[in-house]
Amino acid sequence: MEFVDRLLTCADCGGEFIFTAGEQLFFLDKQFKNDPKRCKPCKSRRSAQGATAATGGPAAAGISRTETRTECSECGVSTTVPFKPTQGRPVLCRQCFKNKRTPSVVTPENTTMPSELGQGSTELAAAAQPAQA
Ligand SMILES: [Zn+2]
Ligand SMILES: [Zn+2]
Repeated sequence: MEFVDRLLTCADCGGEFIFTAGEQLFFLDKQFKNDPKRCKPCKSRRSAQGATAATGGPAAAGISRTETRTECSECGVSTTVPFKPTQGRPVLCRQCFKNKRTPSVVTPENTTMPSELGQGSTELAAAAQPAQA
């Protein structure tokens, strides 16, 4: 059987590409019934796209699920908080939060935390307390 190079039209870019005699022989050998639908650049582009799509989008990177992106109500800088900010309540960035806490009274007892953070840690602290006789 003899093969001659054939000119095919790419289904993707509409350009013409050569289905060479060698490739036809290869297709016959592999028992491929259909002619190639895409030119080589389009074929490799598609397989590359498929590979990146399979790994998942870039959305997963960056902010973790518990972090909420918001704006600091003090300085307006965009920041992330490890809890869901309540509507209408001020949210401070780390810097402003520190600035707010440091002035005047700095006593060990005065470890007031935002309630969202505090609830969990007080519970944890209570549980960690050794049962003293
Ligand atoms: Zn193409
Ligand atoms: Zn701030």
